[in-house]
Amino acid sequence: MTTEKRHFDVIVIGAGVAGIYQIKRLTDLGIDSIVLEGDEDLGGTWYRNRYPGARFDSESYTYGYSFSQELLDEWHWTERFSSQPENLRYLNHVADKFDLRSHMRFNARVEAMTWDEDALQWHLELQNGDKYTARFVITGIGVLSAPTPPRIKGMDDFAGPSFHTYWWPKEPVPLAGKRVGVIGTGATGIQVIAEIADKVSELTVFQRRPNWSTPLNNSPISEEEMAEIRSRYDEIFANCAISPGGFEHVPDRRGFWNVPKEERIALWDKLYASPGFALLAANFREIFIDEEANKEISDYVANRIRQRVHDPKVAEKLIPKDHGFGMQRLPLETHYFETYNRDNVHLVDITETPIERITSTGIQTANSHYDLDVIVYATGFDAVTGAFDRMKIRGVDGASLGDKWRDGPSTYLGILTKGFPNMMMVAGPQSASGSTNYPRAIETGVNWVTDLLQHAIANGITRLEAGADGEQEWQHEVKKAYDGLLLRKSQGWFTGYNSNVAGREVGKVRYQAFFGTGPKYAARLKQAAERGYSDIMFG
Ligand code: NAP
Repeated sequence: MTTEKRHFDVIVIGAGVAGIYQIKRLTDLGIDSIVLEGDEDLGGTWYRNRYPGARFDSESYTYGYSFSQELLDEWHWTERFSSQPENLRYLNHVADKFDLRSHMRFNARVEAMTWDEDALQWHLELQNGDKYTARFVITGIGVLSAPTPPRIKGMDDFAGPSFHTYWWPKEPVPLAGKRVGVIGTGATGIQVIAEIADKVSELTVFQRRPNWSTPLNNSPISEEEMAEIRSRYDEIFANCAISPGGFEHVPDRRGFWNVPKEERIALWDKLYASPGFALLAANFREIFIDEEANKEISDYVANRIRQRVHDPKVAEKLIPKDHGFGMQRLPLETHYFETYNRDNVHLVDITETPIERITSTGIQTANSHYDLDVIVYATGFDAVTGAFDRMKIRGVDGASLGDKWRDGPSTYLGILTKGFPNMMMVAGPQSASGSTNYPRAIETGVNWVTDLLQHAIANGITRLEAGADGEQEWQHEVKKAYDGLLLRKSQGWFTGYNSNVAGREVGKVRYQAFFGTGPKYAARLKQAAERGYSDIMFG
């Protein structure tokens, strides 16, 4: 009889973009390690989000891993913003190429983690009852991996298919000839609505607050273009490393008020027609910090919406009035606004006519019943800390991480948190992952965590924990970055607001991510290592 090994020096939780690279680094170093993944296969975000229209909004070639020249040389991204199936194929290719699958266990959802101060190890309990122990745990559990369906009366009564976009079924969902309702108009809703509008018989969008959104401007990548991209990879990653958001787009540093209005508009015309986050990331910095500058760019984007939507009343409903452009995470769209010019697409403003309940045949609002065959909940996530809250994590003296972070996370560099020794977070709360091009900050985080582990192993360190001073200082830096930005006033996930999670009040900011830019984040990590990790308590 063979018994599966259940103790490891390092356990990585999650086989998404972070966990895949983390296990690569660990196994390369010969460290006794494994990945535990709750899903039945790897891929994380790109395994789960199978809804029609799901794709990158970072340029594909800035999203892929940079660690292997061979991988860069052989992979062909077929689109500038590649779609979910291709992204999942890519992650599988990486795992297979580097033989990482053999270091992963699937259907292994960690439900609880308890620190054992005597044995200096973590005890992990899985949903299926299995138990593991590890000296160190590294979490790669994602920033947007705890979906939050709404809490609407009657949801279980609906007779047809209904699901949150995160759980869009693997098997094809027949949509042709169906009456589909979508609740939610964030980045996910905007992608799914635009993609299915011409495939369904009727599409009814239930919108609470509209979002600003600008064109993705996607296009295929030919063999020749891919060859050119490959020849530039060093330059591309160097550009990402010095740009605030981890993209190739760089801010216009001339100063908003130094540039005449006509020139500003000319720049915005150019950026609006450019791919990806150009209008956000290649704009003037002032739009994020100065109300007047923000109003001007918001008016510009509002006019673009008015030009694209034929019915002026519908156009006004699609223009956010409660927050300015760039204050929430910007969704990128492909013909989203034109979708509302179609006869089979209907916009229901649920601030005017609230949803009262879901019935067996559709959605009942304050003044109408909408007959539906399929209901899609594109209602977002308990972002950043949600995935931690779903595991019962108990640290020193049995203290609960959920309790420590009740009013918002507190970390050291987004990687450690005091009271929870030997637990390291990649893409954790208050890292730059949530605020910049995700994999770029992940590589920075994984490399730093791996160096720290190597330092611990080389020095016979069996216990490491964030010191109080370092954590407090990082709180100060994280907060300072929010305080300087208009986004602190937003109701999006950047500030941790979510109407479907109890206790989240509008205006009460949870300092979820580090908004001080990618390069600053990388520099702070580098500095901490160069100072011999002096903010960490070693034992
Ligand atoms: P989201 O941005 O949080 O949007 C959720 C939407 O659902 C909002 O419109 C929200 O309205 C609405 N909603 C939530 N609860 C509701 C309720 N009870 N009743 C009615 N409406 C409700 O979530 P998301 O669209 O899933 O996007 C989350 C993040 O995932 C994005 O910001 C982005 O970072 C990432 N993402 C990335 C891509 C990509 O292209 N790579 C694609 C999709 C998502 P309110 O605004 O009024 O709360």
